[in-house]
Amino acid sequence: MDENILSISTLQHYAYCPRQFALIHIEQVWEENRFTAEGRVLHERVDSGVAEQRRGTRYERDVLLCSKQYRLTGKMDLLEIEQGDPLKYFPVEYKRGKPKVEGWDRIQVCAQALCIEEMRQTQVDTGAIWYWEVCKREPVIIDDALRKTTVEAIDGAHTLLESGKTPPPTENRKRCRACSLLDLCGPNTFRRDRSARYIDDELFTSPLQSTENDNENGHDAV
Ligand code: SF4
Repeated sequence: MDENILSISTLQHYAYCPRQFALIHIEQVWEENRFTAEGRVLHERVDSGVAEQRRGTRYERDVLLCSKQYRLTGKMDLLEIEQGDPLKYFPVEYKRGKPKVEGWDRIQVCAQALCIEEMRQTQVDTGAIWYWEVCKREPVIIDDALRKTTVEAIDGAHTLLESGKTPPPTENRKRCRACSLLDLCGPNTFRRDRSARYIDDELFTSPLQSTENDNENGHDAV
């Protein structure tokens, strides 16, 4: 991956857990399991379709996306273009599982919408996610709140990638139990092991920071 460009699909990793994002995209570890394999097969099936026109809507598949503003690139499963003046664009993402309470799937659709807006000079108000397991299409409203969350995820992922440093495990242990990288990550071992924090404190705390901390603690500056 070009270190200045993020793939849209990586945002779901960052939104799920920044450490998962770093393990995959900085340390380049990956472990395929049943869920990731099913997801990959589903996308291969969806992406192999051709464009078609039905009534007043054009369906484009496997659409390439990019944004200079957000330094993003990616592919979209399906773009629906409703005829009219102006044309209306609906990004549609296919997911293996079922709808989630958390918003990381919606972040991916919103990032696609940001790319479409930049590439086609338009406004995208709605997208959708098709959940394969329950055969359900969920609308995604591209409102200000989702845009803000998405831009924060994009900025956070860029910053983490540029730092090249893998953060500690998430405090949300429920996510660890459902994580495809659980064995490779070893979050509980990391949480028990204080040596990483010791090395960070000893080697990476700048002298200036130490002085500031000393001052905050009431010690005299040297
Ligand atoms: S096991 Fe937990 S801490 Fe590790 S990558 Fe997965 S969610 Fe993050």
